[in-house]
Amino acid sequence: MEKVGVVVIGAGVVGLAIASEIAREDREIYVLEKETAYGQATSSRNSEVIHAGIYYPKGSLKADLCVEANPMIYEICREHNVPHSRIGKIIVANGEEEIRQIEGIIKNATECGARDLEMIDADRVHELEPNVKADAAILSPTTGILDAHGLMDHFHREARRKGGSDPVVLDTEVTGLEQKGDGYEVEMVSGGEAFSVEARVVVNSAGLHADTVAEMAGIDVDEAGYRIHWCKGDYFSLTGRPPARMLVYPPPPLDAASLGIHTVPDLTGRLKFGPNAYYVDEISYKVESDRDEFWRDIVKYLPMIGREDLHPDMSGIRAKLQAPGDPVRDFVIRHEEDKGFTGLINLIGIESPGLTASPAIAEMVAGMVDEFF
Ligand SMILES: Cc1cc2nc3c(=O)[nH]c(=O)nc-3n(C[C@H](O)[C@H](O)[C@H](O)COP(=O)(O)OP(=O)(O)OC[C@H]3O[C@@H](n4cnc5c(N)ncnc54)[C@H](O)[C@@H]3O)c2cc1C
Repeated sequence: MEKVGVVVIGAGVVGLAIASEIAREDREIYVLEKETAYGQATSSRNSEVIHAGIYYPKGSLKADLCVEANPMIYEICREHNVPHSRIGKIIVANGEEEIRQIEGIIKNATECGARDLEMIDADRVHELEPNVKADAAILSPTTGILDAHGLMDHFHREARRKGGSDPVVLDTEVTGLEQKGDGYEVEMVSGGEAFSVEARVVVNSAGLHADTVAEMAGIDVDEAGYRIHWCKGDYFSLTGRPPARMLVYPPPPLDAASLGIHTVPDLTGRLKFGPNAYYVDEISYKVESDRDEFWRDIVKYLPMIGREDLHPDMSGIRAKLQAPGDPVRDFVIRHEEDKGFTGLINLIGIESPGLTASPAIAEMVAGMVDEFF
């Protein structure tokens, strides 16, 4: 059986970022991806926002890795011509209760290290975005947007350059993981045929299926708290001229499942709104939400939007560790040595801000991988 150094399961933005960080000419790596192209799952179905690290609990991986990665992403984009724009973001508040809510948010965000945040009043909001209705807002100038595929292409190029060959193997689904010797036998179906390789280290970055992959290795995912709950978010696009240039967010809903329906400008000048959040049992990317519910949320801060201007656009599915009604959960990024799985590194529950955090996640995982070589 072929022996390799590292098998990374899943070629989304996280698996590709990890490959770009761990690739070496003297270390054989495979990145196994079940689809026929990389980045076809959650990494291409999101808001493409470069987050500043505003909402996450202090000391969490989500907060720390996002704050660390925000300037890294801008540097990567600048140096490697990944399309992006630092358009800035406002989180708007209408009424006393929402103002108190965003005051709490800016306090937490500042303690987490999010950069250059500022409370602004209604006049300043009007100067920045004349169509937006707000009594006050948090201004985040380091929030921006990027081309997620451009970022993945960059990580893919880096992995090839550093390793001297292309580590990504498409149309290859991992179907089994078994501890063998000082590593793992990784079973897969590649182009319809069954294969196995032996890997010293396995990195599980299988996104929506990371719990299934952990289970294959023999981890009791319910006992470990690794069961993933799929939480879908739909987007509606706007016809006509965008009424705002920046990212405009409401205060987040109190259920902690999403950031609230916000403007999602893209680099072509189109504007979408979304995503909402609802739990699902199957993976379908059909937009199923009620347009009027979206519209009612949007007109609270952009009153000129007509409901007929909104059209079902796309959706994405979050790999959430938090079940409906549960408090927010952090990313799981760990070498499972203490569970008896030396050489297995699990990444589970990598929902937002996983796109932004990807280069910092990759550095963290590379530190774990390097201990084996
Ligand atoms: C609606 C929505 C909006 C979001 N907005 C933002 C945002 O604006 N900014 C931000 O920073 N983050 C955002 N995120 C989060 C971000 O998109 C994710 O954190 C990130 O894309 C996760 O990347 P990943 O590589 O872990 O997962 P994925 O992109 O899902 O990649 C996992 C890969 O594993 C493959 N795979 C699974 N099982 C197997 C197997 N058995 N064998 C082989 N391959 C397998 C899949 O095919 C897939 O390609 C958003 C997410 C959603 C859902």
